[in-house]
Amino acid sequence: MGRHRACVRTRAHHGLPHARRGRGRPGPRTGHFVADFWRNRMTTARRIAVLLPPAEAGDNPEKLLVAAAALAQGGTLDVLALRQSGAAPLPPQNLAAPTRWWDLSHPTLARFDADNLVPLFAQAIDIAGLNTPTLLLLPQGPLGEECAARLASLLQGVSLGRCTDLALAGEEVVGTRPAYGGRVALQLASAAACCLATWRPAAPAPVTAQWASPQVHQAVLSAVLPPAPEATVDEAMDKMPALEGARLVVSGGRGMQGETGFALLGRIAGQLGAALGGSLPTVDAGWVPVARQIGQSGKFVSPRIYFTVGVSGTPQHMAGVSSDSRIIAVNKDPGAPIFARADVGVVAEWQELLPLLAEELEAAAVATDR
Ligand SMILES: Cc1cc2nc3c(=O)[nH]c(=O)nc-3n(C[C@H](O)[C@H](O)[C@H](O)COP(=O)(O)OP(=O)(O)OC[C@H]3O[C@@H](n4cnc5c(N)ncnc54)[C@H](O)[C@@H]3O)c2cc1C
Repeated sequence: MGRHRACVRTRAHHGLPHARRGRGRPGPRTGHFVADFWRNRMTTARRIAVLLPPAEAGDNPEKLLVAAAALAQGGTLDVLALRQSGAAPLPPQNLAAPTRWWDLSHPTLARFDADNLVPLFAQAIDIAGLNTPTLLLLPQGPLGEECAARLASLLQGVSLGRCTDLALAGEEVVGTRPAYGGRVALQLASAAACCLATWRPAAPAPVTAQWASPQVHQAVLSAVLPPAPEATVDEAMDKMPALEGARLVVSGGRGMQGETGFALLGRIAGQLGAALGGSLPTVDAGWVPVARQIGQSGKFVSPRIYFTVGVSGTPQHMAGVSSDSRIIAVNKDPGAPIFARADVGVVAEWQELLPLLAEELEAAAVATDR
């Protein structure tokens, strides 16, 4: 797994952490300086590759590609661009570093989730001959993060997480990532043979070399993909309104006790035309997709009404709910902190209340259709 270390740099103090400044490194104390300093010490030994999910599954990767090419200057950049079979490939992009662009497809790739993409990326890494030491980069977002974590486990590597800056320093990869709502910049350094990170570059990469067209290779992958799962809570939630901008949000907490509880909450949200979200423990348990986590480390919502069930109301959760939202809370514990914020509080077990509510709403919808 290699060596890793971490240090914290606050926003107010943009320079090198004390331990590093103590070694007498020169230059102005700015965040960019740190990146440039490490970049200048780059070795060419570590191979850099960008793993791109099919275009339909992510943001425009241009900024990531430009930054990765700047990081790879002096070496070669590999871009492993997956696409759905039959779909148009992502057009290869001219980049500053010599680039090998892998146009990759699979005859049955239809679902762009980590279960499908991880075995394909693993095979592509092999085909591209990406021997360690490597730095494998993915676009930021829940899909990139899950793929990075699972590839790190598969390849016995290390994932540095969501980085805003990356640099090579001798044998080490140094990633900078925000923490505590961006108030702190955490620097993680790893000498692992295989490092992964998701990267949304904070600043445009400094480019010193000429831009050149990549060498394009095509490959049809043959990795065995998992069978399509039965319809899950995740898929049902994908069809629901997004949390962003929702006027009505229904959310569940650990008290919902599992997917069955969330399916019921989903029925209610569906009837109300509401967006469905959850607390951190519900995301950790896999009942709710990460994109629907509400709170300090998830999404901020500002609906007119926030209807929440089985959520205790910790500050970390409530940090994701606007103070302008009216809150309706259901919790079996009359002492739950959520009641201190709620406009309407109902002390009840959801098992008693929600089935009745769902039936009432569905009956009302049928009556309206008649
Ligand atoms: C740095 C950091 C960031 C974090 N970020 C977030 C974040 O973004 N979002 C987030 O949510 N949390 C976050 N957390 C976690 C947070 O501290 C809490 O652990 C979390 O919010 C608790 O979630 P919960 O309310 O679902 O679970 P719990 O606190 O376990 O509450 C469950 C509630 O369900 C009730 N209940 C149980 N059974 C029933 C029933 N049958 N009917 C009705 N009610 C029932 C219980 O009375 C209880 O109040 C973060 C923590 C840290 C340290």
